[in-house]
Amino acid sequence: MNSVSAYYYPHGTYPAGIRTNLPRSFESIREKIKSLLGNAPLCIVTNREPIVFIQDQKLRHPAGGVSQVLHALLERLGGVWIAARDSAGPDALLVPSDRGPGYLLQRLEIPSTLQKPFYNGYSNGTLWPLFHGNRECVSHDPSEFIQYDRVNQMFARKVLDTLNRERPGLVWIHDYQLIRVAHWIRREGPLPLPPLAFFCHIPWPTPSDFARIPEWQSLLEGMLSYDIVGFQTPKHFKLFLDTVAAFLPEAHVAANGIITWNNRQIRVIVMPVGIDPLHFKKLSQRPENEFFAKKFLKESGIPDNTPFIISVDRMDYTKGLFERISILDSFFTFFPQWRGQISFLQIAVPTRSGQKTYKAYQERLRIRIQELNDKWRLNDWIPLRSIETTLSQPHLASLYKMATGALVTSTNDGMNLVAQEFLACQGNGDGVLFLSRHTGSAHVLKGSLLIDPFHPTFAARQIHTGLLEKTSRKITRNIALNQKMETSNLYGWITRLLDMV
Ligand code: UDP
Repeated sequence: MNSVSAYYYPHGTYPAGIRTNLPRSFESIREKIKSLLGNAPLCIVTNREPIVFIQDQKLRHPAGGVSQVLHALLERLGGVWIAARDSAGPDALLVPSDRGPGYLLQRLEIPSTLQKPFYNGYSNGTLWPLFHGNRECVSHDPSEFIQYDRVNQMFARKVLDTLNRERPGLVWIHDYQLIRVAHWIRREGPLPLPPLAFFCHIPWPTPSDFARIPEWQSLLEGMLSYDIVGFQTPKHFKLFLDTVAAFLPEAHVAANGIITWNNRQIRVIVMPVGIDPLHFKKLSQRPENEFFAKKFLKESGIPDNTPFIISVDRMDYTKGLFERISILDSFFTFFPQWRGQISFLQIAVPTRSGQKTYKAYQERLRIRIQELNDKWRLNDWIPLRSIETTLSQPHLASLYKMATGALVTSTNDGMNLVAQEFLACQGNGDGVLFLSRHTGSAHVLKGSLLIDPFHPTFAARQIHTGLLEKTSRKITRNIALNQKMETSNLYGWITRLLDMV
């Protein structure tokens, strides 16, 4: 295998002749971890915790790809998870699992004075829109970066505590909120350290967008403090290498992803995150979930056996929720025969409501939905049922299975796991995925029916023709896409990382 192929190609897209040796089960990944790390556990670090305590000591999982997918992984592999405390409950707890050994959750207390500038401010007011190319939403306050960096330092100290106690063999830190953690670990920690890996769940911006914020150097140096850096797609891998080459002339950047900087080597790789398709398939077939889904649809105003197209998103501007409304408006304008015949169901999860931009976005959105529905309603039928709630994955699974289609309209999305979950639950069913071309999933799921949320008329036509396709064609496509997910799934994701350790 030549070195370019080794780093560049994600699983499932290796050119013919390159072997991937993809493990087929969690047991084999556990064995692999054992052979690489001995008895040392894997340590995962995220800002958001994977479970939230709600009333009566009940737990629920927050809606969001990062925590859902890492929970699915760690509960089966075992290990330690460090995250900022989000709700009441103890400082550390064992999260049990009926699918594996479960894991130890270590919760970091972030003082409330730091929380706002760190989370609402620098993470979600500056980095999130910047990385997603939403220039008009980027706010910048240099004092917020100082607090962001302090929180990253606090995470680093928590990791160092864990290194002393649990002695993990690999520390895997996630996402844009925690770019500077490895920098602080190296500054404050004793050597030698276990490998420090980072995964960027969201897109990486263009070099010129990145340099719009004055802290670009601290952030880049933060990224290069890791040993392994993973991106979702070749595009973001390349943008990152271009950014380093453009702004850190002292770094040597090789096209295969090896960066030499400060006498260290950093390996940058493409490793698209995936789901456990079989798990979703099984969830979608459970009678109790089907029972829930039927009841939920009825209560949402979608009568039994009525065709519906589902969307499931946090209410975030990157999910293209306004663009979706324009698409539906075009759809009923140009193809009025569908009026009253098919419903669009949107599970809209309120998110970051403490932030002014989000609050205003969500309020404007509700008004637009109302306008769309007023324009097209027909007796009891309305085009878009928007339900603001969080559903559990078992419940979502049955809705995915029953749906006639799924509509993903993200304007820029690192991956979009909902698209993959829908396909897994469809299996060899005939539900059609209408997938935004601006998602990581569009890269993984080559052969999907792509739409462009910036071109509503074109997208509306795609939906119309997609719905009218022959059933056999729809099924053949779903089978082919499910096969793609077989090689680009949760196992492939972690294996790709382990191959680099
Ligand atoms: N999700 C959930 N309940 C909901 C809505 C979403 O559990 O009500 C989950 C969904 O199953 C998926 C994740 O949240 O695993 C969303 O991931 P995605 O990559 O699509 O988007 P993100 O929110 O991470 O940007």
